[in-house]
Amino acid sequence: MKWKCSVCNLIRPGDKPPEKCPKCAVPGSKYAKMTDQEWEVVQRSRLTNALYTELLAMTPRLIEIAKSGIEDDLDPWCVQLFEHLLKEVTFVEASAKAELEGHMKKGKWG
Ligand SMILES: [Zn+2]
Repeated sequence: MKWKCSVCNLIRPGDKPPEKCPKCAVPGSKYAKMTDQEWEVVQRSRLTNALYTELLAMTPRLIEIAKSGIEDDLDPWCVQLFEHLLKEVTFVEASAKAELEGHMKKGKWG
């Protein structure tokens, strides 16, 4: 079974909660047993969360590329393409952050 710290959200395996949280040091009484459904939601969300995290590691470079292309100003079509990239990457980046925040608030994280 899994136990979750109500203070720092650390999830620990075991037949019983830890005596003391290894992350935030509160007593084990601050741990709550996760239901099978809660644990399944955490596990089911891990791949998508990992993909969003990987995506967010890439977006700063894509934004940098778009800005360099705009600044280079080779021709109007290239500038238009880089402007499109900048707009879309900025939207995707913000949306991925919003999704991750939503997942964390809904227990789709851990
Ligand atoms: Zn804790």
